[in-house]
Amino acid sequence: MPRRKAGHAGVSRSVAVMTAFMMKTDQLTFEKAYENLRTVQPEAKMIEEFERQLKLYQAMGCEVDTSSAIYKQYRLQKVTEKYPELRSLPQELFAVDPTTGSQGLKDEVLYKCRKCRRSLFRSSSILDHSGGSGPVAFAHKRMSPSFTHVTGSQAQCTSYFIEPVQWMESALLGVMDGQLLCPKCSAKLGSFSWCGEQCSCGRWVTPALQIHKNRVDETKMLPGLGSQTRKT
Ligand SMILES: [Zn+2]
Ligand SMILES: [Zn+2]
Repeated sequence: MPRRKAGHAGVSRSVAVMTAFMMKTDQLTFEKAYENLRTVQPEAKMIEEFERQLKLYQAMGCEVDTSSAIYKQYRLQKVTEKYPELRSLPQELFAVDPTTGSQGLKDEVLYKCRKCRRSLFRSSSILDHSGGSGPVAFAHKRMSPSFTHVTGSQAQCTSYFIEPVQWMESALLGVMDGQLLCPKCSAKLGSFSWCGEQCSCGRWVTPALQIHKNRVDETKMLPGLGSQTRKT
């Protein structure tokens, strides 16, 4: 979009802010709030980007939870749109390497390399792509792996799609796609593509960082009892 109409974006932004306000206070969907606004202000217009952000806001229950999977997925997509071939990535895009520090580990499942036992990522890094819409599809606080088995929504998925983790950084930059190897034993764990890959369930995920489920083991962190490994 041409940048010359500087004032226009400002108008669009205030429309977006008012729409967001109505969504939150009156518990309206994006469409309904925008429609209401336009009956009062027929000239109100919104650029596509704000519309997208507001739909995301709606999907997150009108709360911006920066740790939610849907927000992470959105942020990843934004970065990929901006840089087709990434030379560098903002550090906040990477999940903390689970071998460094242990914050936020409570109630989370840790995934380890099946071969060498190195911790690779946490359950909070999994970006769910199961179909449908609404809060269930965006269940970002998945505490136990049994949840996915109960719903069956990921039954046919043979991979976990996850956010970038710090140990991947060198592999991810400067190329469009490649393999993801264990940082300790170099076992092949999966692959990534900034243009996206298709999951075994048929869904396209863009960008895609996938770890084959049969290359990792789930380790449930039990409070006070250390870790317990569950073979899958
Ligand atoms: Zn899938
Ligand atoms: Zn390994």
